[in-house]
Amino acid sequence: MTALDAAWADRWLREAARVLAEHRDELIELDRAIGDGDHGENMDRGFRAVVAKLDESPSESVAAALKLAATTLMSKVGGAAGPLYGTAFLRASIAAGDRTALDGYAVEAVLAAARDGIVARGKAELGDKTMVDAWSPAVDAAGRAADGEAALEAAASAAEEGARATKPLVARKGRASYLGERSAGHLDPGAVSTSYILRAAVTAAVSEILSGEVT
Ligand code: ADP
Ligand code: MG
Repeated sequence: MTALDAAWADRWLREAARVLAEHRDELIELDRAIGDGDHGENMDRGFRAVVAKLDESPSESVAAALKLAATTLMSKVGGAAGPLYGTAFLRASIAAGDRTALDGYAVEAVLAAARDGIVARGKAELGDKTMVDAWSPAVDAAGRAADGEAALEAAASAAEEGARATKPLVARKGRASYLGERSAGHLDPGAVSTSYILRAAVTAAVSEILSGEVT
């Protein structure tokens, strides 16, 4: 089993950057339907900047990696998502604390802290058609898992399910809420980007060899 340590956290952020770049146009299209069309570009720009910083120096701890993501996303992403993801990663970093690696309990604590940060900042409730609809089920699912990797896998699957479930919802927060009933019938872009970011955490845990960590 892979340790969910600093090297994993860096692989997670790099994999998130790769996946968000790959899905940039899709996220732009989703945000064009119920927002202003910038979400894909915002996320791609932000995570590219995170990777540029990791290229300068690898993180010394999980908390340091998450904090680097927080400060970089806060300054580079903009829009609603920048401060929301920034707060999420900052709270996650604090929750990770001085642990050298995350076990199942810590994965749940870190994800819960991230979700709580998003809710504190954006005041969205479950069902408002926002990224909270992906984060919240992810936290619940992680809490039912046995170990760190299982918690990540459960969280990613629940986030994907949560993101899919935003489609029929009417947005009550963020730019999409200006559309009222017309926001129904489209996926929420932030819930979808959340599902990509959490899936990347799983990929980073199982793909040590692919990213050259094992010699
Ligand atoms: P903007 O809406 O400023 O253009 P983005 O397009 O980057 O910002 O991000 C939009 C996403 O942000 C939405 O799809 C939604 O998931 C999320 N979002 C917006 N407002 C809130 C909020 N109050 N709480 C939680 N998430 C929100
Ligand atoms: Mg937007």
